[in-house]
Amino acid sequence: MTIRSLRKKFLEGTYTPLHAYEEMRSVIDTRDGDIHAFLHVYDDAREAAIEATRRYTEEGDRAPMLLGIPTAVKNNILIKGKNATAGSKILENYVAPYDATVIARMKSEGLVFMGDTNLDEFAMGSSTENSAFGVTKNPIDLTRVPGGSSGGSGAAVAMGASVIALGTDTGGSVRLPASFCGIVGYKPTYGAVSRSGLIAMGSSLDQAGIFANTVDDAEIVFNVISGKDPLDATTIGPETYGTIPLKETYRIGVPRDFLRKGMDNDVLAVFEDTIKKLAEEGHEVVDVSLPLMERGLAAYYIVMPAEVSSNLARYDGVRFGLKAEGDNLLQDYRKTRAAGFGAEVKRRIILGTYVLSAGYYDAFYGKAEETRHMMRAELAEVYKTVDLIMTPTAPTPAYKIGEKADPLSMYLGDIFTVPINLTGVPAMSLPSGVVLREGISLPVGVQYIAPLGGDARLFDFGKKFHDD
Ligand code: GLN
Repeated sequence: MTIRSLRKKFLEGTYTPLHAYEEMRSVIDTRDGDIHAFLHVYDDAREAAIEATRRYTEEGDRAPMLLGIPTAVKNNILIKGKNATAGSKILENYVAPYDATVIARMKSEGLVFMGDTNLDEFAMGSSTENSAFGVTKNPIDLTRVPGGSSGGSGAAVAMGASVIALGTDTGGSVRLPASFCGIVGYKPTYGAVSRSGLIAMGSSLDQAGIFANTVDDAEIVFNVISGKDPLDATTIGPETYGTIPLKETYRIGVPRDFLRKGMDNDVLAVFEDTIKKLAEEGHEVVDVSLPLMERGLAAYYIVMPAEVSSNLARYDGVRFGLKAEGDNLLQDYRKTRAAGFGAEVKRRIILGTYVLSAGYYDAFYGKAEETRHMMRAELAEVYKTVDLIMTPTAPTPAYKIGEKADPLSMYLGDIFTVPINLTGVPAMSLPSGVVLREGISLPVGVQYIAPLGGDARLFDFGKKFHDD
């Protein structure tokens, strides 16, 4: 099911938004007890589907492109009147007082919101095991993780409970679950999509991202949610980066020095196979050198916790959510935060506070920011010679639930995705092959990266290479 194929049926009236809703709702009712992609399933979706069905008969092809399309939303994106938990106990009872800009734009299209989805607490994680509300399972193999932190959204699209889904991507949280669940995951240029109404993790890294079955679907959604927003001063329009031309075929760089030994051999084989297919389709694949990229992980795990420690200071038991009473204000803070945050969130707040402390600011935070600027310059230099860059999305396929108990081993899985957020460039993960584990075929993604503002180029390439 794609947006265009559904819309065609909706216009013909052979299959209505109400049919689509009922079909997807029954998937949720039969499968989500095991998978747990959703935190809340919305009963008012039925009314929205009925309304969309009515509008198609009335408006015909004047109806908005996304009218009646079933969607799922990561539960750290505010939908007015709905419980927005960010996967945390501290926001267990928090009800969103307004719509995120991305949601407002989707509502004006008449999308049908099936429900909201599970995530690692405050989007911190790569497996959706860090949620305060239970683990989400990979629909392809229930003993494995769906990836994270937007694992619920990835699983929702992969299991057929929604046509598209929104996630957030601070260091790979849309691309990684897309890779593990076998779907398309898109992370826009930083600033292309408003962050207003996204529960903040790392503000200089966060972007809303899109899960879809095709690149065309991702582009349609991107065109709806992107653009300048007076509520987010970092938003930019497509004109900011000048024209980044589309081409018949593309010249794609592979940073060989960056494909580390930590990768599973068969995942690397899928990547090499993809290079062959690209060449067969007339694209030119060349080696490039990006020696700074491997510093990305180290820089990210300084910049991100620093921003996390600042962003999460607002959960103090006074302004939002949970309140645990102590004998005085300081004790209120301590008790609330001790009871409300999980282990991973606490780890990052402590780390972030440390790297920002007066004695260490220059040694850690300053250096990490400098690295980030150098990485950006290095990328810009390489884009003088290639149109796109490709890497694996992750070094492994979906791993077993509980397999990566040590946080550092999980952080290593972000090696290919975090440099993208540090530099702000757009990237997408495309399902590119499978590897066998215990007799089950698990999907593997390949990541494509465009220059800043090159979203249209990524979509153009992806439609030709993946959709056609
Ligand atoms: N896995 C990364 C982390 O744990 C990225 C998370 C994200 O993109 N939200 O920080």
